[in-house]
Amino acid sequence: MEFRTCQACQELFRPRPQVAEQRFCSAAACQRERRRRWQATKRQNDPDYRENQKRVQKAWADRHPDYWRNYRRQHPEYAERNRARQRQRAQDRATGQVAKMDASKAEMPIPSGTYRLSRVVDAALAKSDAWMVEITVITAACASP
Ligand SMILES: [Zn+2]
Repeated sequence: MEFRTCQACQELFRPRPQVAEQRFCSAAACQRERRRRWQATKRQNDPDYRENQKRVQKAWADRHPDYWRNYRRQHPEYAERNRARQRQRAQDRATGQVAKMDASKAEMPIPSGTYRLSRVVDAALAKSDAWMVEITVITAACASP
């Protein structure tokens, strides 16, 4: 019988014959670790999954409005660490050290040229500080000279 080393607890275990690539033993903590790693990888690589998780978590938080308030009250070290990180992020933003994740995709969405900008009158648009415009191409510059 073959033995493998569990990637979480480093103990030897016998893989189940049904799971060819089994890398974690069946201990509950190791299975939790396996799922945690899977989820972290998924969040890293799958924007749809990330977006869905965000929506699900927000829905849950909306149904349990006191949960995080109580959690922070019961875990002051967590709350303090969070505040410190928030201060750091604010500082990074202020000094321009934050690179937007999608900044590499920030190519010009519209080629340079001459456009007509017309205001679109929309009664449904209640925000007074937002403009809704229609952009019409008059002449577009040639992309390759
Ligand atoms: Zn294990």
